[in-house]
Amino acid sequence: MGAALRVAVVGSGPSGMYAAAELLEGNKATVDVFDRLPIPFGLVRYGVAPDHFSIRSVRENLDRIWDQPGIRFIGNVTIGQDISVDELREHYDAVVLTYGASADRALGIPGEQLPGCVGATDFVAWYCGHPDANREFFESYLPTIEHAAVVGLGNVAVDVARILAKTPAELQATDIPEHVRNTLASMKLTDIHILGRRGPAQATWTTKELRELGELEECQVVVDPVGLTDDQAWVTDEKVHQRNVDVVRGWMERPRLEGPTLHLHFLTRPISVAGSVHVSVVQVERTEFTASGSLASTGEVLDLPVEFLVRSIGYRGTGLPGVAFNDETGTVVHVDGRIEPGLYAAGWIKRGPSGIIGTNKKDAVATVESLLADAGAGQLSTGTGAIDGLIAHRGLEVVSVAGWRAIDKAERDLGAQFGIDRMTISDQATLVEIASLGER
Ligand SMILES: Cc1cc2nc3c(=O)[nH]c(=O)nc-3n(C[C@H](O)[C@H](O)[C@H](O)COP(=O)(O)OP(=O)(O)OC[C@H]3O[C@@H](n4cnc5c(N)ncnc54)[C@H](O)[C@@H]3O)c2cc1C
Repeated sequence: MGAALRVAVVGSGPSGMYAAAELLEGNKATVDVFDRLPIPFGLVRYGVAPDHFSIRSVRENLDRIWDQPGIRFIGNVTIGQDISVDELREHYDAVVLTYGASADRALGIPGEQLPGCVGATDFVAWYCGHPDANREFFESYLPTIEHAAVVGLGNVAVDVARILAKTPAELQATDIPEHVRNTLASMKLTDIHILGRRGPAQATWTTKELRELGELEECQVVVDPVGLTDDQAWVTDEKVHQRNVDVVRGWMERPRLEGPTLHLHFLTRPISVAGSVHVSVVQVERTEFTASGSLASTGEVLDLPVEFLVRSIGYRGTGLPGVAFNDETGTVVHVDGRIEPGLYAAGWIKRGPSGIIGTNKKDAVATVESLLADAGAGQLSTGTGAIDGLIAHRGLEVVSVAGWRAIDKAERDLGAQFGIDRMTISDQATLVEIASLGER
């Protein structure tokens, strides 16, 4: 191969960082990694639960990629807004889109737009300290509520329920920002409901995550037995699902105690949300399996007092101008990560919100293979290489690795004041200001 390629990667989450690492190996390319935030690592910072220390420590591995020669971080730049995909294509030999899937799926039920009904994306962003989170809403609303419900039977639903259920002491060692801890600590939740339309055998959570619910300091798990007489709710050929079933069965045998309760409702789905100024009631309907294994309504309807409803039924991607996009799947249109020669995708925007962090590595490597095959076949047009000129011309205040390192240090210093490793700084202006001091 001739001179190293010049590649732009859009998004510094795991898939972007893994794509960059693969391109850097053997000096195949120099890489500029763009992110709309002044901070790298995407959902590893703003999704993975703050109390899951070992998974969050993946950040340290990703951070080491910045130490390699030939890579730059160009943070605080939104592609599609500050710079278009077409402009990137003009300036680089190839562009890899790894901007994730950050929109949430709606339930499509009446009343869903009432204040107090939010997507997991919003709530997770808030407790992780994402700069875009609606702080004002969560901080004024959450202390007023007593009943919460989370819709979904996946790991994100479990994360949301667990963060709501934990005591301040259980969250002490996390990097959750101070304003979030204070709000969570001031909440007076008596009941948290997890609502899933299927049974324990169909839930997609992992057993490790599920078990953690049974280990909470104050909050006890109570399984609603309605619907669970149906064998199909319990039967599975998959080992992981079988382990989940065993955990749920074990909980059904526990005696019920006084105190805050996490209710698990299976074969139950929300059909409407009601309230005068905010959510106050969620109407749920009981479902049952038909002989063919599909779900049908039993006609049994129940009103649950709930002032905070979090839908956790999946994340989805959104399109960028000039990029072929499939609205149904919420992913870009591609073959083996190739949207067209010169334009590629990896991670959640390529395959949808599935798999674990490591899945993005294999996925990014496969995409880079497509890119290199096109380069080898002479299918890439050479970019101008003049992106810095465009950035300066637009007056964009970019954050580099030095800026990110300054933020990293500031967060560690802040954490030290609280006796913890790190505390997340969430305010966008503060982050950019700290970064700018590091750039000097
Ligand atoms: C709540 C939650 C908890 C999770 N917990 C776990 C877990 O415990 N274990 C596990 O293995 N996996 C977990 N995951 C999954 C894991 O986070 C994903 O697999 C992974 O982050 C996907 O990587 P990605 O790079 O495709 O997207 P992302 O991580 O979302 O990164 C996308 C990046 O693109 C940037 N971006 C977006 N739009 C633009 C734009 N227009 N211009 C520039 N930049 C842009 C974003 O700021 C972001 O940094 C969790 C996911 C969620 C949502």
